[in-house]
Parts: sequence; structure tokens; C-alpha cells
Amino acid sequence: MFVSHLSCPKCRATYEPNRKIQLCTCGSPLLVAYDLKKTEKALKKDSLPQRRNDLWRYRELLPVRDFKNIVTLGEGMTPLIRLRNIGGEMDLPHLYLKDEGIIPTGTFKARGAAVGVSMAKELGVKALAMPTNGNAGGAWALYCAAAGIQAVIVMPKDAPPIPRKECVIAGASLYLVNGLISDAGRIVGRAVTDRGLYDASTLKEPYRIEGKKTMGLEIAEQFGWDVPEVILYPTGGGVGIIGIYKALQELQEIGWIGSRMPRLVAVQASGCAPVVSAWQAKKTESVFWENSATVAFGINVPKALGDFLVLDAVYATNGCAVAVTDEDILNTQAYLGRREGLFVCPEGAATLAAARRLVREGWIEKNERVVLLNTGTGLKYPDSVDAEPPVLQPGDAIER
Ligand SMILES: *Cc1c(COP(=O)(O)O)cnc(C)c1O
Ligand SMILES: [Zn+2]
Repeated sequence: MFVSHLSCPKCRATYEPNRKIQLCTCGSPLLVAYDLKKTEKALKKDSLPQRRNDLWRYRELLPVRDFKNIVTLGEGMTPLIRLRNIGGEMDLPHLYLKDEGIIPTGTFKARGAAVGVSMAKELGVKALAMPTNGNAGGAWALYCAAAGIQAVIVMPKDAPPIPRKECVIAGASLYLVNGLISDAGRIVGRAVTDRGLYDASTLKEPYRIEGKKTMGLEIAEQFGWDVPEVILYPTGGGVGIIGIYKALQELQEIGWIGSRMPRLVAVQASGCAPVVSAWQAKKTESVFWENSATVAFGINVPKALGDFLVLDAVYATNGCAVAVTDEDILNTQAYLGRREGLFVCPEGAATLAAARRLVREGWIEKNERVVLLNTGTGLKYPDSVDAEPPVLQPGDAIER
């Protein structure tokens, strides 16, 4: 048992661990705090290579107490791929992409679901509910199926088709709302009060961050505990970037990495860029983004509950926030396919589009080690690519 308590990053209130809990009484998300002295004694760097090759290798930095409650589909330890061709063209020899596209359910949402659902199981949750734009709903539905927990998922009618099918195949109770994710959120809120469901909305339970933080732990391990200079992350609700920052702070505290932090870059789409606009105005919170729209639906979040934590991570690491257009995103997605053989999601492509801009502006220097987070596979976004090849008749020859 390595968790010491839950703490509120806003009003500093603390709560006992191991009970069903949602937000702080002040309305802020809660963060899991560990007894890191105990972790430091129990977890040794040189024991890691012998451990299972998934995110549960860091169990002393994760909240599950009884390992019998772990619900796993094999998530974690995704590859860190050196982009030699594109890095060469950009004159950036140390350019890497961490590929979350090969994880169960096809996006890094599996990390949050694995730890979040395992904790729900440990806490005796029988049914939970969440609003989603797609990928989180698909992941939580599937992990809930494995855990024997009923999942009630509400998504906008216009959400993409594949996560919808993930919910159906998982036997979840799926509802489509004729509206936006905020409307789905209100419906879930009512179901939570009326039917006593556990609210698994983004950041309304503290454990999803713990799953997503393992991306930060893995990056540090994959670089031999000498962390890279820059990490770019496609930011929607911001759970991933908050988690990566939290992981790096915990690694500093147990003495596994030095005092230098990677500069964290929050990448958004120009059709939905509340964090970028807050960062440009040097604000500590964002303002609701009206009429948001982008092909990168995973980062279409007009106002995130944890926006102040995202901005804190960016400011504290001397990072920055960058918005890129959908046109740039789709061109970059095609470029990664053509030059590196990677079929990434639009959100992942956005990070390379942002990196190119930052190199041009001199914010990223040539000798720096730069990590792009590709948060999912392009296979979940079939409509992001036009495919209209020539059609032949049997017996035709291929010209040229
Ligand atoms: C949800 C999602 C994101 C954004 O995740 P946050 O950590 O909540 O900011 C990025 N990419 C994809 C593919 C997603 O599904
Ligand atoms: Zn509080």
C-alpha cells in the first residue's frame, strides 16, 4: 500500500484514500499522493528489467492495493520510435515518437481505463457512467467488460463510429445524445445522482491520471533516466500532460531523475485552443471555447476541468502551448505515413506539426531530444484519409 492520501491541488484539502470519491468539496479534481519514501525502499531501478513489460511494472507508483483487482489487457510499454527520415529532413537528429497506437483499444485511453477500472473494482463499484467524445468511452466499456462492471456511456450523436462499436461489442449501455459532450455530461450527472452510479467523467475520479502518468514513467525509463529536453502532447482534457508532469515530479522525489525537467508542450487544434489562448495571455485558467471544431476529436474539449493543472505543468517546465490548423494536421498525418510508415491519429500528427513550427522559430534547438506523443492509431479515424485509387478491369495492365 503506497498511497498516503488524496490531495486537492486547489484548496490543499486532504482525503483518506481507498474510498469512492469524486471531486474535492471545492470542485477541483483530486490527485493521488504516495508515501514516496516507502516507494523508494520497495522499488529499485535494477529490478525493472525483470518485471512484466506493461504499465504494472511500476506498481509501487500506482494506486491499486490488492493486485488481484488488476484488470489488464496488456497495456503499456509502447515503443519509442526514432524518426530518422523526418528527423533528417528537419535537421533534428534526435526526434522520437512514442507510439500509443498499438495499445489495446488503439489509444492511450487504455492506460487511464486500466488503472481507473481496476480501482473501481477494488472499491466495489458495480456500475459507472461517463460522457465521452469516443475513445475514452470505448476503452472504459471494454475494461469494464473484463472487470464485470456495468458501463453506461453517453456520447454525442456525431461522435466517430469505431468507439461506438467498441461500446456495443463490450455490452455497455450506450446512449447517443443529440448535442455536444457537455450535454452528454449533464445527462451523466443526472444519472449519477438519480441512480447512484460511480461518475467516471474525466478527472471526476482521481485514478485515471495515475494510469496516464505511466507514459511519463516509460519515457524516463526508455531514455535510461536521462529525460529528453522536450515532450509534445496533444491536449484535450489534459489528463495525459498532467499525468506526465506528475510522473516526472515523483521520479525526482525518489531520486531517479535529476532536477532538469523536459519542457512540456501542450498542442491543440486551432479550432479548439482554450489552453493555448490562456497561455498566450499568461493566465492560469482557460475560458470556454465557443463552437469548437477539429478533425482531431480527442482534443475537442472547449473547457477542461483540469485546465489550471495543464497550465501549471507548462509554466513550471518552461514549456509552451501551440495551436495547429486541421489542414496542417492532415498534411502532417500523410507525411508521417509516407516518410516513416506510421499511420497515426490526427492528434498525434498535430504534435509533429507543432514541433516543426517550434524548430523554425528556434524554440527547439537542433541537438535537443524531442518526443512526440502519438496518442492513438490512425485506424480509429478511417475518414481522416481519402482513398480513391484507380479501378482496373481484370486483364488491365498497370501503366507507368
Ligand atoms: C483523449 C485523447 C487525447 C487528449 O487526451 P487528454 O490527455 O485528455 O488531453 C489525445 N489524443 C487522443 C487520440 C485521445 O483520444
Ligand atoms: Zn479543494
